[in-house]
Amino acid sequence: MYHTGEKPGAGTYYCDECYHEITIAGDQDVLPVCPICSATTFYKASEH
Ligand SMILES: [Zn+2]
Repeated sequence: MYHTGEKPGAGTYYCDECYHEITIAGDQDVLPVCPICSATTFYKASEH
């Protein structure tokens, strides 16, 4: 799992609550709060 404020690296992540897709473009980009449901936990597309 990844959380808001972390820098998990480039890739596609999904909100653990509503499955909204978040794309991280680079290693310095921070995971945001989910814009749909305000959740702060995400998983990577290749996991779960
Ligand atoms: Zn969400």
